[in-house]
Amino acid sequence: MKGYAMLRIGESGWIEKDTPACGPLDAIVKPLAVAICTSDVHTLWEGAIGDRHNMILGHEASGEVVEVGSEVKDFKPGDRVLIPAITPDWNSLEAQAGYSMHSGGMLAGWKFSNFKDGVFSEYFHVNDADGNLAHMPESIDPADACILSDMVPTGFHAVELADVQFGDTVLVIGIGPVGLMSVAGAALRGASRIIAVGTRPVCVEAAKSYGATDFISYKNGPIDEQVMELTGDKGVDRVCVAGGTVETFEPAIKVLKPGGKIGNVNYLGSGDYINIPRVEWGVGMGHKDIRGGLMPGGRLRMEKLASLVESGRLDLHPEVTHLFHGWEHLEEALFLMRDKPVDLIKPVVVID
Ligand code: NAD
Ligand code: ZN
Repeated sequence: MKGYAMLRIGESGWIEKDTPACGPLDAIVKPLAVAICTSDVHTLWEGAIGDRHNMILGHEASGEVVEVGSEVKDFKPGDRVLIPAITPDWNSLEAQAGYSMHSGGMLAGWKFSNFKDGVFSEYFHVNDADGNLAHMPESIDPADACILSDMVPTGFHAVELADVQFGDTVLVIGIGPVGLMSVAGAALRGASRIIAVGTRPVCVEAAKSYGATDFISYKNGPIDEQVMELTGDKGVDRVCVAGGTVETFEPAIKVLKPGGKIGNVNYLGSGDYINIPRVEWGVGMGHKDIRGGLMPGGRLRMEKLASLVESGRLDLHPEVTHLFHGWEHLEEALFLMRDKPVDLIKPVVVID
């Protein structure tokens, strides 16, 4: 089969590989649509997960099952499925402890384009098919369904980590495709005010449609000063971090009320330490929680998130700004994600 691979850090291209073998609990799936992720850019051009040779990229897809193992009960060839970017081993001790995304080691629930070949290929392998696949509702378009693989579960996970409550004022730092889903998730959780940090008009428009009430730009001065001014020096109850650097925690702590929580899903690609300002952290006693996590994967989460789309409470359309048809456009879509033109949120390639 053909797959689009990372050949080494900074180099990519189409390669030929054997079709993956299907174990008794597994499925082999062919993609109906694939989406490019910022993480593919980090992996390929920044060496974020270290060097990889001839590893097929991609972890966001919707697909059709072509083969299932002898022990798989709920899926059969021909089924159209949602596939989470994180596919834990559900019988692992980490999963039993409630942290399935770390099954097999820290962050090891992330298998596609990390520990095994990803989804940018004619066929890909899904471990623990009954635990990780979900049936794709008919009303959901396969292109939109890719957004359910990673953007929705990750953006929503920031909201879960920040533990957003009814009536909260929530700051969302970074409104790329992940942060936009944090805005949507905070709104669904009952936030009264959502302050979004971002400037690109396409993102600002999408954030408005998802429920953001106020906007600031990190390019217009320190985030904390702008947030304190907007809130009459009160600060915010919760912060979702979906963009920025190790420096971003400093303003987040500064604007957080005592008892507040920060939910980070941003990948911190450089710097050895996170900066926590001592005084604003209540000299160690401020009850300001900092949490960070890899998105939870698995079937139940996929089914629940898809039900929000089915019921009309979550619209995925604003996320997909660039739609391509055919594998021949995959590279173009990937390079687009690297170069981030101003009108881009997410490129999706439909495999016709
Ligand atoms: P993105 O690059 O499209 O969006 C990040 C946004 O943050 C951009 O709009 C950028 O302008 C903005 N930004 C940059 N510096 C900033 C700053 N100092 N302050 C405020 N905003 C700033 O990326 P994305 O696809 O939306 O993903 C967001 C992050 O989530 C990435 O780091 C990605 O690797 C990570 N991620 C994590 C998980 C997970 O499971 N935790 C899953 C997928 C992606
Ligand atoms: Zn992704």
